[in-house]
Amino acid sequence: MKKVAFIGLGHMGLPMARNLLKAGFDLKVFDLQQSAVDELAAEGAHAAKDARDAVHDAEVVISMLPASRHVEGLYLGEQGLLGYITPGSLVLECSTIAPESAKKVSKAAAERGIELLDAPVSGGTAGAAAGTLTFMIGGEVGALDKARPLLNAMGKNIFHAGLNGAGQVAKVCNNQLLAVLMLGTAEAMALGVANGLDPKILAEIMRQSSGGNWALERYNPWPGVMENAPASKGYTGGFMAELMAKDLGLAQEAALATGSSTPMGSLALSLYRLLLKQGHGQEDFSVVQKLFT
Ligand code: NAD
Repeated sequence: MKKVAFIGLGHMGLPMARNLLKAGFDLKVFDLQQSAVDELAAEGAHAAKDARDAVHDAEVVISMLPASRHVEGLYLGEQGLLGYITPGSLVLECSTIAPESAKKVSKAAAERGIELLDAPVSGGTAGAAAGTLTFMIGGEVGALDKARPLLNAMGKNIFHAGLNGAGQVAKVCNNQLLAVLMLGTAEAMALGVANGLDPKILAEIMRQSSGGNWALERYNPWPGVMENAPASKGYTGGFMAELMAKDLGLAQEAALATGSSTPMGSLALSLYRLLLKQGHGQEDFSVVQKLFT
């Protein structure tokens, strides 16, 4: 049974770690929030007292943190975790971070004889709970082959995007598109309702028509249209708007670096920044609906 350390038990990390437990991995977990550690310990995981304790003896280390600064802060520097992970181990860095940051951390890991894959995910909290996430992997094929049993316990689709950083590039492209789809869906829902349509009927019509898309079909932003969507739970749970704004910023950085034209991504970032200024950063990203109502 592989010894796995899991660091970062938030909206995504907790259900992902739970699926590894269910699959029989020997799991040691850590998060700055003790309540998340306690929850998994009650289900059979070992509770670590800090990140170093978590990685002690681990053959695989998985992290699921908010952003680049958390990941670099955890792994790099004199006191960084890379100094405490056994050489020969494998690290799966699942957070969505800047491609440059992923390259920097993987290079530092390689210098210590540690294999690191960028392994950002798509599929939301529902996909994390169901074990149906999509993984976008950046790194060496050999390391990916070693990671497959773990990835299969947490996800359904595993793509090798290229070398380190490539997984993160794929992820920011996907999230830029998701933000644009969510904004377009929220705008259309508000337009239809303002013109007298029932939101459930409008959603069903568009779902069966050419406007169908993931945001509309699986994550409708209009409250009450989909019982289990964050919109129907006061925009709680799910994927925080401030994290979407972070990903849109990463997409703009990638666009600047290559001179790419991304007018939709740029507008989406501006609208999410507005939403954050209005105090909605900690709510699910479908809360963009409020910009149109
Ligand atoms: P979250 O804020 O709910 O969870 C992050 C967790 O990391 C928190 O519990 C926090 O306490 C912990 N943490 C932060 N720094 C730490 C440290 N140094 N040591 C230990 N724990 C630490 O965020 P989330 O929604 O779970 O997202 C995590 C990552 O996954 C982000 O990069 C996000 O962009 C990405 N993502 C999220 C979703 C989603 O639907 N929520 C979907 C795909 C990808």
